[in-house]
Amino acid sequence: MSGVATGVRGDESGLVARLTLEQKVRLLTGADSWALHGESSVGLRPIMMSDGPAGVRGTHFDRANPSTLLPCPVALAATWDEELVQRITSELGREARAKGVDVLLGPTVNIVRTPLSGRGFECFSEDPLLTARIAVAYVRGVQDAGVAATAKHYVANDSETDRRTYDARITETVLRELYLPPFEACVAEADVFLVMAAYNSVNGATMTANATLLNDLLKSEWGFAGVVVSDWSATTSTVPSALAGLDIVMPGPKGPWGDKLVAAVRSGAVPESAVDDKVARLLVLARRIGGLNGAPGANGAGAALTPHGLVDPVLLREVTTRSFVMLSNDRGLLPLRAAKVRKLALIGPNAVDPQTQGGGSVRVLPAVQTDLAKSLAKSLGAATNVSVHQGCLTSFTVAAPAEGTLVDPVSGKPGVRIEIRDDEGQVVHDAPFPSSVATWWDGLPDAVHLPGSEVTMRARYRPAVDGRHLVGAAGVGRLRISVDGSPVAEAATDLPHDIVEALSRPPEVRVPVELQAGHEVEVRIDYRPEARFVTLRLGIALLTEDDALIEEAARAAAESDVAVVVVGSAEGTESEGYDRDSLALPGRQDELVSRVAAANPSTIVVVNSGMAVLMPWAGQVAAVIQAWLPGQAFGDALADVLLGVMEPGGRLPISLPRTEADSPVLLAHPEAGKLVYAEGLLVGYRGFDRAGTEPLFAFGHGLGYTEWSYESVTPASAAIGAAEDLDVTVSVRNTGTRTGREIVQLYLQGPDDDGRRPLRVLAAFAPVSADAGEEVAVRLTVPARAFMRFDEGRHDWVSQRAAYTLRVGRSSRDLTLSAHVDVR
Ligand code: BGC
Repeated sequence: MSGVATGVRGDESGLVARLTLEQKVRLLTGADSWALHGESSVGLRPIMMSDGPAGVRGTHFDRANPSTLLPCPVALAATWDEELVQRITSELGREARAKGVDVLLGPTVNIVRTPLSGRGFECFSEDPLLTARIAVAYVRGVQDAGVAATAKHYVANDSETDRRTYDARITETVLRELYLPPFEACVAEADVFLVMAAYNSVNGATMTANATLLNDLLKSEWGFAGVVVSDWSATTSTVPSALAGLDIVMPGPKGPWGDKLVAAVRSGAVPESAVDDKVARLLVLARRIGGLNGAPGANGAGAALTPHGLVDPVLLREVTTRSFVMLSNDRGLLPLRAAKVRKLALIGPNAVDPQTQGGGSVRVLPAVQTDLAKSLAKSLGAATNVSVHQGCLTSFTVAAPAEGTLVDPVSGKPGVRIEIRDDEGQVVHDAPFPSSVATWWDGLPDAVHLPGSEVTMRARYRPAVDGRHLVGAAGVGRLRISVDGSPVAEAATDLPHDIVEALSRPPEVRVPVELQAGHEVEVRIDYRPEARFVTLRLGIALLTEDDALIEEAARAAAESDVAVVVVGSAEGTESEGYDRDSLALPGRQDELVSRVAAANPSTIVVVNSGMAVLMPWAGQVAAVIQAWLPGQAFGDALADVLLGVMEPGGRLPISLPRTEADSPVLLAHPEAGKLVYAEGLLVGYRGFDRAGTEPLFAFGHGLGYTEWSYESVTPASAAIGAAEDLDVTVSVRNTGTRTGREIVQLYLQGPDDDGRRPLRVLAAFAPVSADAGEEVAVRLTVPARAFMRFDEGRHDWVSQRAAYTLRVGRSSRDLTLSAHVDVR
């Protein structure tokens, strides 16, 4: 039990002394899924937590109270702009406050170890420095608004396969130099209020009971004064977790602490001082977020939510454009000149159904729905015709009819009717719902007992065309589909490996049904759920063949001035709970792009994925933009970038491999429960560089609408002492014809010993703006830590006294300037 840095404690110790052991232990397990207990005798009100990190969900999913959906975290990191990230997360913090949320469960600061990671979109980068810089900005922004941020998932939760059980085997050097720095920076530089202990184990000890990494490192060595909260249902022990440094078990009210912890203290297995330390930390947190003695929350308290959420839509749009990475634009087709575009074909599964967010606990109900065609048409003006073409089908489940095309048979409102009956057939819920995808993130109502209860979803549907339609019912349990009162299919589905998969990508029962245009039918699903946390989903779509869709798209492209093809992940492709099994775009999207490109050389591809996808067609198209999972401003931001109102400002925070085999780490499948980080430090560009493999697009790469020349790099000194930072001035000139913004990147090449260390690593970066023709100087600081290595023998950071090369340029593979510095 390490003590909290005493200065932070204030009066908390006195308050702790006023509580009985039972009162104290009660505070250490959640009151429910999201709230902690209050304790009026010490003036403590319940503290509310909510996910994070691409928006703040609020205390529950509530259509009347939606959330601003930000670009996914990897997109935020693609801005490489700490100041911008801090500005937007401070607005996110204000929105959290307005929703009554005290603790935001983000940011996710794990490293993108493999591009297959289902949750990679929720991390910032493959690089620890970029991750740390953006994470610090994120935490500062949120906490500026008086809301606590949570650095998660501590540590080595870098993939999803068997995430609850794997034991990550990582050397201490690799942990210290690659996976821990973002957490360390959040503690040291941003004073993050909470750290979340991950599900997995590291080197033999589960993270909720890992004394080495919680007590010894986080709390003692780094002096973390905040609260360690478990990931949800991650805590599997009473005494080991209580002793190791875990402070709060979530969710509650049940869990491994409670009475068992009281008994453990009484028996002497856990000293009461350990409990006191946890409670004191909790009270410190409460004081910081205004939860003690009726103190109101800080800035933003009580602010009214607007229909867009609380985040300034102008800022959100700017951040989104700055996150888009223009990967290629060889013929200068972009930006488009609206006057020259009479016909634009908007093509692709993601043009019709854009993926604005990934799956899992990160999900929010966005305040604004994305409609790419509408946004483009508005920006292009009435003189341009925008046509929309599906191109091919990629959805894992049958497409959900667009909101507004289904009608609740009872109220006549757009949407569906949902009725829930308990195991005795009593109706416990009967209400309209606006969408045919219903997810009970907080669990089914308490009155629902399993098994035996039943959920019915029904809706009237009016087909637009004659023909065979596919009706899909997705959920975990027994599903029966009826059309106009007649059962047409019934089957049971199995619970996937990870419960979150049941929410993001539920298994589906499908049946083809002949429908007539304009002839309304009632479609009904009767569902006997097998789990409390479930998604029930009704899909209805005309049964179409990809061949016909591709053909139609290619024809439309040929008849248009420009084709914009939006490809990417489908609903459920990228999610918490499972990893992807391939980097290929789902379905026949590659073929679609090739066919469209062959039909029209002015083809622009927009990639709507959170992680790397293979782009075998990259050389066939005029331009490629990586747009990530861009949040609710997708449409307007894309229009801004395509038309040159804004530059695409992003640079890649991850490498994009040419083939799967080129990726330094691919499958993260534990063997016999162990996940060996055998690549050591050679993750991402470090691996590509060491192997001499050319990525398709390198870490740090990204084009804007102007040109830059790198003029000079000048270190403040030719030699520095050990443990000193190094200031470096870099001059760049905007040699193009419009004002622009560039991310100047500095990589450090050190003494290379054994071939297992990276050739060079990102050591500093900064955004810079300049008018056409202007030369500007930017100062970068290479932190002293960049010249150190972790020495396992001495158990400490040790400066490497040697000659270093500073390499400066536009990406990890485009480094035109260099300078030398000696560390003495
Ligand atoms: C996720 C966390 C999340 C928590 C609460 C867990 O499954 O790993 O990131 O904050 O659930 O939703």
